[in-house]
Amino acid sequence: MKPFVEMAELGHEQVILCRNDDVGLRAIIAIHNTTLGPALGGCRLYDYASEAEAMTDALRLSRGMTYKAAIAGLDLGGGKSVIIGDRSIKSEALFRAFGRQIESLAGRYITAEDMNTNVQDMNDIRRETQWVTGVGAHAGGSGDPSPITAWGVFNGLRACLEVVYGTPSVSGRTVAIQGIGNVGYNLAKYLHERGAKLVFSDINAGNIDRAMSEFGGTVVEGDEFFQSDVDVLAPCAIGGIINKRTIEMIKAPIVAGGANNVLANEDEDCDRLREKNIILAPDYVINAGGLMSVYSELRGWPADKAMDDAGKIFTTVKSILSKANADGISSIQASNRIAEARIESVAKLQRLRVG
Ligand code: NAD
Repeated sequence: MKPFVEMAELGHEQVILCRNDDVGLRAIIAIHNTTLGPALGGCRLYDYASEAEAMTDALRLSRGMTYKAAIAGLDLGGGKSVIIGDRSIKSEALFRAFGRQIESLAGRYITAEDMNTNVQDMNDIRRETQWVTGVGAHAGGSGDPSPITAWGVFNGLRACLEVVYGTPSVSGRTVAIQGIGNVGYNLAKYLHERGAKLVFSDINAGNIDRAMSEFGGTVVEGDEFFQSDVDVLAPCAIGGIINKRTIEMIKAPIVAGGANNVLANEDEDCDRLREKNIILAPDYVINAGGLMSVYSELRGWPADKAMDDAGKIFTTVKSILSKANADGISSIQASNRIAEARIESVAKLQRLRVG
Protein backbone atom coordinates (compact mmCIF):
# COMPACT_ATOMS: atom_id res chain seq x y z
CA MET A 1 0.00 0.00 0.00
CA LYS A 2 1.22 3.51 -0.84
CA PRO A 3 -0.56 5.89 1.54
CA PHE A 4 0.60 9.07 -0.21
CA VAL A 5 -0.57 7.77 -3.57
CA GLU A 6 -3.98 6.83 -2.12
CA MET A 7 -4.21 10.19 -0.34
CA ALA A 8 -3.45 12.00 -3.58
CA GLU A 9 -5.96 9.94 -5.56
CA LEU A 10 -8.75 10.63 -3.08
CA GLY A 11 -7.67 14.22 -2.37
CA HIS A 12 -6.83 14.01 1.35
CA GLU A 13 -5.28 16.86 3.31
CA GLN A 14 -3.85 14.99 6.28
CA VAL A 15 -3.66 11.55 7.86
CA ILE A 16 -2.52 11.03 11.44
CA LEU A 17 -1.28 7.75 12.95
CA CYS A 18 -1.93 7.55 16.70
CA ARG A 19 -0.16 5.12 19.03
CA ASN A 20 -0.21 4.52 22.77
CA ASP A 21 1.13 1.09 23.78
CA ASP A 22 0.12 1.51 27.44
CA VAL A 23 -3.56 1.34 26.51
CA GLY A 24 -3.30 -0.64 23.24
CA LEU A 25 -4.23 2.27 21.00
CA ARG A 26 -3.50 2.06 17.29
CA ALA A 27 -5.63 4.53 15.40
CA ILE A 28 -5.77 6.45 12.15
CA ILE A 29 -7.42 9.83 11.79
CA ALA A 30 -8.07 10.77 8.17
CA ILE A 31 -8.88 14.38 7.37
CA HIS A 32 -10.12 14.59 3.80
CA ASN A 33 -11.19 18.17 3.18
CA THR A 34 -11.74 21.10 5.54
CA THR A 35 -12.81 23.74 3.02
CA LEU A 36 -16.32 23.97 4.45
CA GLY A 37 -15.41 23.51 8.11
CA PRO A 38 -13.81 21.12 10.60
CA ALA A 39 -13.66 17.50 9.48
CA LEU A 40 -16.42 15.58 11.23
CA GLY A 41 -16.86 11.83 11.07
CA GLY A 42 -17.32 8.92 13.43
CA CYS A 43 -14.76 6.74 15.13
CA ARG A 44 -14.96 3.12 14.00
CA LEU A 45 -13.51 0.31 16.10
CA TYR A 46 -12.78 -2.68 13.91
CA ASP A 47 -10.51 -5.69 13.91
CA TYR A 48 -8.99 -5.04 10.50
CA ALA A 49 -7.10 -7.89 8.82
CA SER A 50 -4.19 -5.52 8.14
CA GLU A 51 -3.04 -1.96 8.72
CA ALA A 52 -3.42 -1.35 4.99
CA GLU A 53 -7.09 -2.33 5.20
CA ALA A 54 -7.59 0.05 8.14
CA MET A 55 -5.93 2.87 6.19
CA THR A 56 -8.05 2.26 3.10
CA ASP A 57 -11.24 2.25 5.19
CA ALA A 58 -10.29 5.51 6.94
CA LEU A 59 -9.45 7.19 3.62
CA ARG A 60 -12.62 6.00 1.86
CA LEU A 61 -14.97 6.80 4.73
CA SER A 62 -13.51 10.27 5.38
CA ARG A 63 -13.92 11.23 1.72
CA GLY A 64 -17.54 10.12 1.89
CA MET A 65 -18.09 12.46 4.85
CA THR A 66 -16.85 15.43 2.80
CA TYR A 67 -19.55 14.80 0.21
CA LYS A 68 -22.23 14.09 2.81
CA ALA A 69 -21.63 17.36 4.68
CA ALA A 70 -21.30 19.36 1.46
CA ILE A 71 -24.57 18.18 -0.07
CA ALA A 72 -26.35 18.59 3.28
CA GLY A 73 -25.37 22.28 3.24
CA LEU A 74 -23.44 22.04 6.53
CA ASP A 75 -20.33 24.01 7.49
CA LEU A 76 -18.37 20.82 7.98
CA GLY A 77 -15.57 19.04 6.22
CA GLY A 78 -15.00 15.31 5.94
CA GLY A 79 -13.03 13.14 8.32
CA LYS A 80 -13.14 9.73 9.92
CA SER A 81 -11.11 7.75 12.40
CA VAL A 82 -10.53 4.07 12.89
CA ILE A 83 -9.17 2.30 15.94
CA ILE A 84 -7.66 -1.07 15.12
CA GLY A 85 -8.84 -3.91 17.37
CA ASP A 86 -11.90 -5.75 18.61
CA ARG A 87 -14.25 -4.78 21.40
CA SER A 88 -12.02 -6.43 24.02
CA ILE A 89 -9.53 -3.53 23.79
CA LYS A 90 -12.17 -1.00 24.86
CA SER A 91 -11.39 0.87 28.08
CA GLU A 92 -11.77 4.32 29.57
CA ALA A 93 -8.01 4.83 29.16
CA LEU A 94 -8.05 3.83 25.49
CA PHE A 95 -10.75 6.35 24.58
CA ARG A 96 -9.19 9.04 26.75
CA ALA A 97 -5.85 8.45 25.04
CA PHE A 98 -7.61 8.76 21.72
CA GLY A 99 -9.35 11.92 22.99
CA ARG A 100 -5.95 13.47 23.70
CA GLN A 101 -4.86 12.73 20.15
CA ILE A 102 -8.00 14.47 18.88
CA GLU A 103 -7.37 17.41 21.22
CA SER A 104 -3.90 17.81 19.71
CA LEU A 105 -5.56 18.61 16.38
CA ALA A 106 -7.16 21.69 17.96
CA GLY A 107 -10.57 21.28 16.32
CA ARG A 108 -9.53 20.24 12.83
CA TYR A 109 -11.22 16.86 13.46
CA ILE A 110 -14.43 16.19 15.42
CA THR A 111 -15.41 12.63 16.24
CA ALA A 112 -18.69 10.79 16.94
CA GLU A 113 -20.00 7.22 17.24
CA ASP A 114 -19.62 4.71 14.47
CA MET A 115 -19.43 0.94 14.20
CA ASN A 116 -18.58 -0.64 17.59
CA THR A 117 -18.37 2.68 19.46
CA ASN A 118 -21.13 4.16 21.61
CA VAL A 119 -22.22 7.07 23.81
CA GLN A 120 -20.13 5.80 26.74
CA ASP A 121 -16.99 5.81 24.56
CA MET A 122 -17.75 9.36 23.41
CA ASN A 123 -18.22 10.39 27.04
CA ASP A 124 -14.73 9.06 27.78
CA ILE A 125 -13.29 10.97 24.81
CA ARG A 126 -15.08 14.10 26.09
CA ARG A 127 -13.04 13.95 29.31
CA GLU A 128 -10.00 14.90 27.23
CA THR A 129 -11.38 17.02 24.42
CA GLN A 130 -14.37 19.12 23.46
CA TRP A 131 -14.06 17.93 19.84
CA VAL A 132 -16.55 15.09 20.13
CA THR A 133 -20.28 14.80 19.45
CA GLY A 134 -22.85 12.12 20.18
CA VAL A 135 -22.11 12.30 23.91
CA GLY A 136 -24.80 11.52 26.48
CA ALA A 137 -27.67 13.90 27.20
CA HIS A 138 -26.12 14.93 30.55
CA ALA A 139 -23.23 16.46 28.57
CA GLY A 140 -25.53 18.31 26.20
CA GLY A 141 -25.62 15.47 23.67
CA SER A 142 -28.27 15.11 21.00
CA GLY A 143 -29.01 11.45 21.80
CA ASP A 144 -30.06 8.80 19.29
CA PRO A 145 -29.96 10.32 15.77
CA SER A 146 -31.99 7.49 14.19
CA PRO A 147 -35.44 9.18 14.24
CA ILE A 148 -33.91 12.18 12.43
CA THR A 149 -32.04 9.95 9.99
CA ALA A 150 -35.28 8.11 9.24
CA TRP A 151 -37.13 11.41 8.75
CA GLY A 152 -34.59 12.37 6.08
CA VAL A 153 -34.92 8.96 4.43
CA PHE A 154 -38.71 9.30 4.49
CA ASN A 155 -38.55 12.69 2.79
CA GLY A 156 -35.97 11.59 0.20
CA LEU A 157 -38.20 8.63 -0.56
CA ARG A 158 -41.18 10.99 -1.06
CA ALA A 159 -39.13 13.03 -3.55
CA CYS A 160 -38.49 9.86 -5.57
CA LEU A 161 -42.21 9.02 -5.50
CA GLU A 162 -43.02 12.47 -6.87
CA VAL A 163 -40.60 11.98 -9.76
CA VAL A 164 -42.01 8.56 -10.63
CA TYR A 165 -45.73 9.01 -9.87
CA GLY A 166 -46.22 12.80 -9.95
CA THR A 167 -47.16 12.94 -6.25
CA PRO A 168 -45.01 12.51 -3.12
CA SER A 169 -47.85 10.94 -1.15
CA VAL A 170 -47.00 7.60 0.46
CA SER A 171 -50.64 6.76 1.09
CA GLY A 172 -51.49 3.48 -0.60
CA ARG A 173 -47.87 2.98 -1.76
CA THR A 174 -46.00 -0.16 -0.75
CA VAL A 175 -42.50 0.07 0.68
CA ALA A 176 -40.25 -2.92 1.41
CA ILE A 177 -37.80 -2.22 4.24
CA GLN A 178 -34.70 -4.37 4.73
CA GLY A 179 -33.48 -4.02 8.32
CA ILE A 180 -36.05 -2.94 10.91
CA GLY A 181 -33.44 -1.65 13.37
CA ASN A 182 -33.03 1.93 14.57
CA VAL A 183 -33.50 3.59 11.18
CA GLY A 184 -35.80 1.01 9.56
CA TYR A 185 -38.19 0.96 12.52
CA ASN A 186 -38.59 4.75 12.57
CA LEU A 187 -39.00 4.83 8.79
CA ALA A 188 -41.73 2.17 9.06
CA LYS A 189 -43.46 4.29 11.70
CA TYR A 190 -43.51 7.45 9.54
CA LEU A 191 -44.75 5.46 6.54
CA HIS A 192 -47.42 3.58 8.50
CA GLU A 193 -48.74 6.78 10.08
CA ARG A 194 -49.28 8.18 6.57
CA GLY A 195 -51.04 5.18 5.09
CA ALA A 196 -48.28 3.22 3.34
CA LYS A 197 -48.31 -0.57 3.14
CA LEU A 198 -45.17 -2.27 4.43
CA VAL A 199 -43.06 -5.30 3.61
CA PHE A 200 -40.38 -6.29 6.14
CA SER A 201 -37.13 -8.20 5.86
CA ASP A 202 -34.77 -8.72 8.79
CA ILE A 203 -32.56 -11.49 10.11
CA ASN A 204 -33.57 -10.57 13.67
CA ALA A 205 -36.92 -12.21 14.49
CA GLY A 206 -37.54 -9.89 17.45
CA ASN A 207 -37.31 -6.81 15.24
CA ILE A 208 -39.72 -8.34 12.73
CA ASP A 209 -42.19 -9.23 15.51
CA ARG A 210 -42.09 -5.69 16.90
CA ALA A 211 -42.72 -4.14 13.47
CA MET A 212 -45.50 -6.60 12.61
CA SER A 213 -47.31 -6.07 15.90
CA GLU A 214 -47.09 -2.27 15.70
CA PHE A 215 -47.62 -1.66 11.97
CA GLY A 216 -48.71 -4.92 10.32
CA GLY A 217 -47.54 -5.88 6.85
CA THR A 218 -45.89 -8.73 4.99
CA VAL A 219 -42.66 -10.50 5.90
CA VAL A 220 -40.18 -11.64 3.25
CA GLU A 221 -36.87 -13.45 3.54
CA GLY A 222 -33.53 -13.26 1.72
CA ASP A 223 -33.80 -12.52 -1.99
CA GLU A 224 -37.59 -12.13 -1.76
CA PHE A 225 -36.84 -8.58 -0.63
CA PHE A 226 -35.33 -7.66 -4.01
CA GLN A 227 -38.10 -9.47 -5.91
CA SER A 228 -40.89 -7.70 -3.99
CA ASP A 229 -43.56 -6.16 -6.19
CA VAL A 230 -43.50 -2.80 -4.40
CA ASP A 231 -43.14 0.91 -5.17
CA VAL A 232 -39.96 1.40 -3.14
CA LEU A 233 -37.13 -0.79 -1.85
CA ALA A 234 -35.69 0.80 1.30
CA PRO A 235 -32.41 -0.87 2.32
CA CYS A 236 -31.83 0.03 5.99
CA ALA A 237 -29.47 -2.74 7.08
CA ILE A 238 -26.05 -3.31 5.56
CA GLY A 239 -23.99 -2.05 2.62
CA GLY A 240 -23.22 -3.70 -0.71
CA ILE A 241 -26.64 -5.31 -1.13
CA ILE A 242 -27.43 -3.58 -4.42
CA ASN A 243 -25.14 -5.34 -6.87
CA LYS A 244 -25.01 -7.05 -10.26
CA ARG A 245 -26.86 -10.12 -8.96
CA THR A 246 -29.61 -8.36 -7.00
CA ILE A 247 -30.28 -5.59 -9.55
CA GLU A 248 -31.48 -8.26 -11.96
CA MET A 249 -34.19 -9.22 -9.47
CA ILE A 250 -35.45 -5.71 -8.66
CA LYS A 251 -39.01 -4.91 -9.79
CA ALA A 252 -39.50 -1.69 -7.80
CA PRO A 253 -38.98 1.60 -9.68
CA ILE A 254 -37.26 3.25 -6.67
CA VAL A 255 -34.41 2.36 -4.29
CA ALA A 256 -34.31 4.75 -1.34
CA GLY A 257 -33.07 3.66 2.08
CA GLY A 258 -30.80 4.64 4.96
CA ALA A 259 -28.06 2.00 4.68
CA ASN A 260 -24.57 3.34 3.98
CA ASN A 261 -22.60 2.26 0.90
CA VAL A 262 -25.59 0.39 -0.45
CA LEU A 263 -24.04 -0.16 -3.90
CA ALA A 264 -21.40 -2.89 -4.12
CA ASN A 265 -19.70 -1.10 -7.03
CA GLU A 266 -20.71 2.55 -7.20
CA ASP A 267 -20.08 3.30 -10.89
CA GLU A 268 -21.18 0.00 -12.39
CA ASP A 269 -24.25 -0.53 -10.22
CA CYS A 270 -25.44 3.04 -10.81
CA ASP A 271 -25.34 2.39 -14.54
CA ARG A 272 -27.10 -0.96 -14.15
CA LEU A 273 -29.92 0.74 -12.22
CA ARG A 274 -30.22 3.47 -14.86
CA GLU A 275 -30.44 0.87 -17.62
CA LYS A 276 -33.41 -0.65 -15.78
CA ASN A 277 -34.96 2.80 -15.22
CA ILE A 278 -34.71 2.40 -11.47
CA ILE A 279 -34.33 5.63 -9.52
CA LEU A 280 -31.74 5.62 -6.74
CA ALA A 281 -31.69 8.19 -3.94
CA PRO A 282 -27.94 8.42 -3.14
CA ASP A 283 -27.43 6.94 0.33
CA TYR A 284 -25.15 9.68 1.63
CA VAL A 285 -27.74 12.31 0.71
CA ILE A 286 -30.82 10.62 2.09
CA ASN A 287 -29.24 9.36 5.34
CA ALA A 288 -27.61 12.71 6.27
CA GLY A 289 -30.17 13.35 9.06
CA GLY A 290 -27.81 11.76 11.59
CA LEU A 291 -25.06 14.18 10.62
CA MET A 292 -27.53 17.08 10.80
CA SER A 293 -28.40 15.94 14.31
CA VAL A 294 -24.80 16.04 15.57
CA TYR A 295 -24.25 19.33 13.74
CA SER A 296 -27.20 20.82 15.65
CA GLU A 297 -25.62 19.51 18.83
CA LEU A 298 -22.36 21.28 17.97
CA ARG A 299 -24.18 24.51 17.28
CA GLY A 300 -26.36 24.25 20.36
CA TRP A 301 -29.52 24.34 18.25
CA PRO A 302 -32.78 22.75 19.45
CA ALA A 303 -33.49 19.18 18.29
CA ASP A 304 -36.42 20.22 16.08
CA LYS A 305 -34.03 22.29 13.92
CA ALA A 306 -32.30 19.07 12.84
CA MET A 307 -35.70 17.52 12.10
CA ASP A 308 -36.58 20.54 9.90
CA ASP A 309 -33.26 20.27 8.09
CA ALA A 310 -33.74 16.54 7.50
CA GLY A 311 -37.14 17.36 5.98
CA LYS A 312 -35.33 19.49 3.38
CA ILE A 313 -33.70 16.33 2.03
CA PHE A 314 -36.89 16.19 -0.05
CA THR A 315 -35.79 19.25 -2.05
CA THR A 316 -32.17 18.11 -2.26
CA VAL A 317 -33.12 14.73 -3.70
CA LYS A 318 -35.47 16.37 -6.19
CA SER A 319 -32.74 18.69 -7.47
CA ILE A 320 -30.28 15.80 -7.74
CA LEU A 321 -32.74 13.69 -9.73
CA SER A 322 -33.54 16.63 -11.95
CA LYS A 323 -29.83 17.28 -12.64
CA ALA A 324 -29.23 13.57 -13.31
CA ASN A 325 -32.07 13.60 -15.82
CA ALA A 326 -30.96 16.84 -17.50
CA ASP A 327 -27.28 15.85 -17.75
CA GLY A 328 -27.91 12.18 -18.60
CA ILE A 329 -25.86 10.99 -15.62
CA SER A 330 -26.55 8.82 -12.58
CA SER A 331 -28.00 10.30 -9.38
CA ILE A 332 -24.72 9.65 -7.57
CA GLN A 333 -22.71 11.46 -10.23
CA ALA A 334 -25.20 14.33 -10.05
CA SER A 335 -24.98 14.65 -6.28
CA ASN A 336 -21.17 14.35 -6.35
CA ARG A 337 -21.02 17.21 -8.84
CA ILE A 338 -23.34 19.42 -6.76
CA ALA A 339 -21.25 18.72 -3.64
CA GLU A 340 -17.98 19.43 -5.48
CA ALA A 341 -19.36 22.67 -6.92
CA ARG A 342 -20.31 23.87 -3.43
CA ILE A 343 -16.85 23.08 -2.05
CA GLU A 344 -15.14 24.81 -4.98
CA SER A 345 -17.29 27.92 -4.71
CA VAL A 346 -16.56 28.25 -0.98
CA ALA A 347 -12.85 27.58 -1.57
CA LYS A 348 -12.77 30.55 -3.94
CA LEU A 349 -14.19 32.82 -1.20
CA GLN A 350 -11.23 31.93 0.99
CA ARG A 351 -8.87 33.64 -1.46
CA LEU A 352 -9.94 36.91 0.17
CA ARG A 353 -7.92 37.22 3.36
CA VAL A 354 -10.16 38.50 6.16
CA GLY A 355 -7.92 38.26 9.19
P1 NAD B 1 -29.33 -1.27 13.41
O1 NAD B 1 -28.23 -2.21 13.78
O2 NAD B 1 -30.17 -0.66 14.50
O3 NAD B 1 -30.35 -2.00 12.42
C1 NAD B 1 -29.94 -2.80 11.37
C2 NAD B 1 -30.99 -3.89 11.18
O4 NAD B 1 -30.65 -4.63 10.00
C3 NAD B 1 -31.06 -4.89 12.33
O5 NAD B 1 -32.41 -5.10 12.70
C4 NAD B 1 -30.43 -6.16 11.73
O6 NAD B 1 -30.98 -7.36 12.28
C5 NAD B 1 -30.81 -6.01 10.28
N1 NAD B 1 -29.97 -6.76 9.34
C6 NAD B 1 -28.63 -6.93 9.37
N2 NAD B 1 -28.24 -7.66 8.31
C7 NAD B 1 -29.35 -7.94 7.60
C8 NAD B 1 -29.60 -8.67 6.41
N3 NAD B 1 -28.63 -9.27 5.75
N4 NAD B 1 -30.89 -8.75 5.97
C9 NAD B 1 -31.89 -8.17 6.64
N5 NAD B 1 -31.72 -7.48 7.77
C10 NAD B 1 -30.46 -7.37 8.26
O7 NAD B 1 -28.64 -0.15 12.51
P2 NAD B 1 -29.21 1.30 12.16
O8 NAD B 1 -28.67 2.30 13.12
O9 NAD B 1 -30.68 1.21 11.95
O10 NAD B 1 -28.49 1.58 10.77
C11 NAD B 1 -28.93 0.93 9.59
C12 NAD B 1 -28.13 1.43 8.41
O11 NAD B 1 -28.27 2.84 8.30
C13 NAD B 1 -26.62 1.18 8.51
O12 NAD B 1 -26.12 0.94 7.21
C14 NAD B 1 -26.08 2.52 9.02
O13 NAD B 1 -24.73 2.70 8.64
C15 NAD B 1 -26.99 3.48 8.31
N6 NAD B 1 -27.11 4.79 8.96
C16 NAD B 1 -27.64 4.87 10.20
C17 NAD B 1 -27.77 6.13 10.80
C18 NAD B 1 -28.40 6.28 12.16
O14 NAD B 1 -28.73 7.42 12.53
N7 NAD B 1 -28.61 5.20 12.91
C19 NAD B 1 -27.33 7.28 10.12
C20 NAD B 1 -26.80 7.16 8.83
C21 NAD B 1 -26.69 5.89 8.26
